[in-house]
Amino acid sequence: MTMECVIGLEVHAQLKTQHKMFCVCPVRFGATPNTLICPVCMGHPGALPRLNREAFVLAWRTGLALNCELPPHSRFARKHYMYPDLPKGYQISQHKHPVGWGGQVEIETSGGHRRFIALERIHLEEDAGQLIHEPEEGISNIDYNRCGVPLLEIVTKPVLRSAEEAVAFLRSLRDILRFLDVCDGNMQEGSLRCDVNLSVRKGPDEPLGVRTEIKNMNSFRLMGDAIRYEAQRHGKALEEGLLLEPETRLWDVERQVTRVMRKKETAQDYRYMPEPDLPPIVVEEGSWEAAVGALPELPFARRDRWTELGVSSHDAKTLAGSKALADYFDACLPLVPSAKAASHWIVRDVLRVLHNEGLTVEECKLLPAELAALLSLLEGGEVVRGQAQELVQFIAVNGGTIEDTRQLLGIEEPVGQDAIADAIASLLAEHDELVQRFRSGDSKVFGFLMGQLREATQGKAAMQQASKLLREALRSK
Ligand code: ADP
Ligand code: MG
Ligand code: ZN
Repeated sequence: MTMECVIGLEVHAQLKTQHKMFCVCPVRFGATPNTLICPVCMGHPGALPRLNREAFVLAWRTGLALNCELPPHSRFARKHYMYPDLPKGYQISQHKHPVGWGGQVEIETSGGHRRFIALERIHLEEDAGQLIHEPEEGISNIDYNRCGVPLLEIVTKPVLRSAEEAVAFLRSLRDILRFLDVCDGNMQEGSLRCDVNLSVRKGPDEPLGVRTEIKNMNSFRLMGDAIRYEAQRHGKALEEGLLLEPETRLWDVERQVTRVMRKKETAQDYRYMPEPDLPPIVVEEGSWEAAVGALPELPFARRDRWTELGVSSHDAKTLAGSKALADYFDACLPLVPSAKAASHWIVRDVLRVLHNEGLTVEECKLLPAELAALLSLLEGGEVVRGQAQELVQFIAVNGGTIEDTRQLLGIEEPVGQDAIADAIASLLAEHDELVQRFRSGDSKVFGFLMGQLREATQGKAAMQQASKLLREALRSK
């Protein structure tokens, strides 16, 4: 019997707006509790919400990028439930008329295997506040700052089949939201959270099994762990013929188990009703293009374009790791002699310098034109690798042109071919015994001789050239 795990995700992405969704309170993480609130987001009687256009624009932008169907009309609904972090007693969400239907997200799993994951819908809703438990004092405090912060909920169809796929989906979606600049994707701060719906069935042709929902996963690792545990729990119950209950569960990090939080509520429980205080949203044809702006090319599309230019798939993946880095590489492309060489230098050297210096890509002072100039010098043999690394190190941090910096650092012309040949001649004369050993098949001495040669030329010889010349000299001696 091959059990099949079925997963659908509900992802909540906090939209990068200045203000909350229905009032003008600022959206800011880490502020003093209860300082970013007003009668609207606190649900005082008579206080009326007004839609923040920016939130809708970001949702629409995401819908376009994910190929959702975007109806010209959408509207808000009240979703009723009682919880201390929800002072209104209901959440303004969307029910029958969401921002978008359908759409898909491309994912990549191990071995570079790619697949499209179908979406059910995307809709807007407001966030709730946060309970802060103080177990030592036996009390819980409430911070309402997050009340009314705009969220975009992205719901997949039940088409994911493993923890690996679910994690790959969330990663890919996070990258896309970041490229679109609609969500910062910071899971630790809760800007991106995910509910996992999971069931197990005895085979792909069986009807879907009873599902449980694990709430609020805020790290990839936790999500993977929780899914693996829950899938096993379902599988075991199924094998033993036990009945599973539709439940909402929590992942207990300490004990590495899921625990029941409550029985699963149904749509009826929420008593959804059209939100009477907000008019329907009507998007007139031709009115949104300017507001939404041009969509950036997304990570997978960029990777494919780059690999066609000869960039390795590993480097392409790294370069598409953030929009700033991808844009940097794209700015270099028209200037550099070779896309592959440029990708190498950025991935191996520029990123290493930025990492060591604690700098972001935006802070990198090595301009694309200077990287291009450096690559041309390297190609022409006018600087050697070690010198180029020195230049990257200095300019990435301090700025400047390659030419000026070469002078400033006193980087000399590399040792020419004749001088390398001279150095090799005297080296071999000095180490006759090693030459004999090399000729009788001991190839290990080659590395030693290269080291000696590097010293003799003070690191100013192009090593590839030097190694070729040394090999020739050893053979012909
Ligand atoms: P809610 O959780 O609010 O009741 P939905 O009914 O829209 O919302 O379902 C939410 C998620 O559950 C979706 O991602 C959907 O794909 C997934 N889902 C629905 N049925 C199953 C099932 N039997 N097994 C796994 N996932 C499911
Ligand atoms: Mg749900
Ligand atoms: Zn407010």
